[in-house]
Amino acid sequence: MSNVRVRFAPSPTGGLHLGGIRTVLYNYLFAKKNGGEFILRIEDTDQTRYVAGAEEYIMECLQWLGLEPDESPAKPGAVGPYRQSERKAASIYQQYAEQLVREGHAYYAFDTPEELETMRQQYRSDTNPSPQYDHRVRAAMRNSTSLDAKTTQRLLDEGTRYVIRIKMPENETIGFTDMIRGEVNFETGLVDDKVLLKADGMPTYHLAVVVDDQLMGITHAFRGEEWLPSAPVHVLLWKYLFGLDAMPQWAHLPLILGPNGKLSKRDGAKYGFPVFAMNWTDAKTGELTEGFREKGFLPEAFINLLALLGWNDGTEKELFTLEELSAVFSMDRVHSAGAKFDYEKARWFNHEWIKKTDNETLVTLVLPLLEKEGVTVTDNSLATQAIASVKDRATLLPDFIPQVSFFFRAPISWDLAAVKPKWNTDKEKFFQVFVEELDATPDFQSAFIEEAFKKTAALQNIKPGELQLPFRIMLVGGKFGPPVFDIAAIIGKSETISRIRTALKAFGE
Ligand code: GLU
Repeated sequence: MSNVRVRFAPSPTGGLHLGGIRTVLYNYLFAKKNGGEFILRIEDTDQTRYVAGAEEYIMECLQWLGLEPDESPAKPGAVGPYRQSERKAASIYQQYAEQLVREGHAYYAFDTPEELETMRQQYRSDTNPSPQYDHRVRAAMRNSTSLDAKTTQRLLDEGTRYVIRIKMPENETIGFTDMIRGEVNFETGLVDDKVLLKADGMPTYHLAVVVDDQLMGITHAFRGEEWLPSAPVHVLLWKYLFGLDAMPQWAHLPLILGPNGKLSKRDGAKYGFPVFAMNWTDAKTGELTEGFREKGFLPEAFINLLALLGWNDGTEKELFTLEELSAVFSMDRVHSAGAKFDYEKARWFNHEWIKKTDNETLVTLVLPLLEKEGVTVTDNSLATQAIASVKDRATLLPDFIPQVSFFFRAPISWDLAAVKPKWNTDKEKFFQVFVEELDATPDFQSAFIEEAFKKTAALQNIKPGELQLPFRIMLVGGKFGPPVFDIAAIIGKSETISRIRTALKAFGE
């Protein structure tokens, strides 16, 4: 396949949801797999839904994940502008809407909001609770199909506000082949006469998506399943404006399901997991919705888990790099049924990816988190060793904070309840001798420390098992952390000795 061009076409209305990022990912993977181009088009024609900062947020998400578009508002190619609001300035859409009117596929509708409301009330019934503007009511409304040509012209000349609506055929079956679902057919008579051009001259999504996909040379269009009901309108627009042969191949991606059906933003707060890619703060309400990035997910893990929400390579393999995915991804292995999001499984992916990530990269991710907690790290090699020693135990990046902080600052309090009941002068004596042993050694390796520990214990006639917990609490403050001799080796001789001495005082009081 050549000349593949796909697009992600978000409306900048807020945070990017898991499903949105999965759409980005599938677009990106399909483009890479087929040697094509991945385009970002910002669909910002609905001024009432426009949210400041949302476009920058989208760009930052893509950057964080390394899913950077080949063409975008920030990196325009030959078919710009890449923001629909800027394309409108060239009145591209108006021209196509007028063409549809001339050819009898669309019409001017002059109905006021009050007239629309009257129609809804008039036609509302038990079997039709929300009447639509369609072929059944069209003739009774104020539009260029019901009015004579002269009246229509007069209204236009007088500058009456109008919208342009598609004239859905009364009795046609229209269909297309979805790359995931196969043949999909619709009865056009069941679909309403959707607005194509609004009174402010802006196109609606329906017109813009068709015109832009054509003018931007899009060959394949992947979007969420929620757009399937609009597909008959788009297919007809393709047929009327550019011909069905020019239409991109469509794939409607399955929903991502939460614990109770469609995964919503509210599910996140309710079940304690993120739903957005990155933190998003609603400027109006100040409400913060947590993101996977801030929760401590690695981009590699996030990509990996999203790829498998609705797709697999036909084997049991679960861990994939972006490169591996780019090599094996195919749309025909995407399931049509909704994919259930499992947060525990998401955490598992992150844990696996933390283990796979090299220590230096983890250091750059963990140090800022430590700094925020007031833990200063000056020794990078100490940081690398500390992180390496606990990475098998971390699921999310913030897990590193309690797991490594003690490497950089000595405990100021100890779990005395765990030590005191079994503490005695023999044990105190052991540590005094052990400190001397440690002080005398030039070779401060974990194996040597352990050997010295056991030897001293044997000489003092104490089981080493009884001494390990106090030793750990001396170095760490609590009952956690990696093997205690490793901790000693990593923090070094003088720090180990100083921590033992300080703790001995506290234990003896
Ligand atoms: N602007 C639409 C959205 O925000 C895009 C749908 C599509 O990809 O065609 O979901």
